[in-house]
Amino acid sequence: MNQSEKRATALALYPEDTREAAALLKQAVPLMVRHNIPPNPVHYALWYTYSKGANPELNRHIDRVVRDFESFPPESATKLFREYIIRDELEDARVGQQQAINLVDGMERDVSRSVSGSLNYQNSLGHCLEMLDSPVEKSLPTILNELQQSTQLMQDQQALFLFQLRSAQNEIKTLREKLEQASLAASLDGLTQLLNRNSFNRVLEQALSKAPKKVALVMLDIDHFKKFNDEYGHPLGDRVLEHVGQVLRNSLPPDAVAARYGGEEFCVVMHECNDLDTARAFAEQLRLKIQSLRIKARGTDTVLDTIAASFGVALSKPGDTLETLLTRADDALYLAKRSGRNRVQ
Ligand code: GH3
Ligand code: MG
Ligand code: MG
Repeated sequence: MNQSEKRATALALYPEDTREAAALLKQAVPLMVRHNIPPNPVHYALWYTYSKGANPELNRHIDRVVRDFESFPPESATKLFREYIIRDELEDARVGQQQAINLVDGMERDVSRSVSGSLNYQNSLGHCLEMLDSPVEKSLPTILNELQQSTQLMQDQQALFLFQLRSAQNEIKTLREKLEQASLAASLDGLTQLLNRNSFNRVLEQALSKAPKKVALVMLDIDHFKKFNDEYGHPLGDRVLEHVGQVLRNSLPPDAVAARYGGEEFCVVMHECNDLDTARAFAEQLRLKIQSLRIKARGTDTVLDTIAASFGVALSKPGDTLETLLTRADDALYLAKRSGRNRVQ
């Protein structure tokens, strides 16, 4: 199954519109109350899917857990969630994450609706009883009193459930924020805060899919960096990488995206760039800025050394793929190294 098919499967899991989703949740919530299931996103997803009945194997599994245990053990819930709900997406964490975000979004909407629905029900019941405080027929209050008593238990349960729903809403909010943070962190390089290789590849692939619009790829690699590390140590080497990252970030033209592509190798994609000269001029600017960096001993003005980098630049052609464009830039970079380094090829 390719990436887009997998993505389609993930989204196809919950194709219901909000009305259908609310109806399914209406079935799921009483089941959760009956089995004392704490409301949280994993449980909602499980009981929602249970009510939908789309996966009989999951339903049999849940029935078995409910029968064998008085409560619903959290490990079972997590296991079922992984096995039946995000199974296909485990290989592709991003899709899984997006699906979880969508799921949480949907659940949050449904939970809010359920909360206001329950409040309305309570209010209307209260209103009805008030109206009947001064009844015309004597027997009616008696009947209503009985009704009130018989529904008291349900109201208490509902009040507790409303409280739990509200905490679940907060949990959902926190979970969504965490997922968004995790998703962002997963796309960045920790040292330079530029994009990492995988997310850069995605950006480049997307840019190439907009052909015939052209893109330019600038690839750079620090010269003799092994020697630098050997001489000054890895921690100072790391600081140099951070500085190069900063130079890139501060020099990017609008619409360009930079990444730390590997150890001491960086890439920039320039969107809608139509000529090699523009890309070459940008690379040349970067080369001069990197060359003019002064590497100082921490906390002093003593200049220890300077660094330089070699550049390979390539412009996309019709039919280019990620691999062919990267290879052309890499070949140019190799040539720059071979021709003496600290140059743009
Ligand atoms: P060249 O001019 O041919 O590019 O020589 P080079 O020494 O830069 O290239 P080589 O590929 O031989 O070595 C790359 C070095 O980059 C090796 C490694 O010590 C260093 N390096 C890679 N990643 C990191 C990192 O995260 N931190 C530090 N400090 N050094 C790194
Ligand atoms: Mg290298
Ligand atoms: Mg190098």
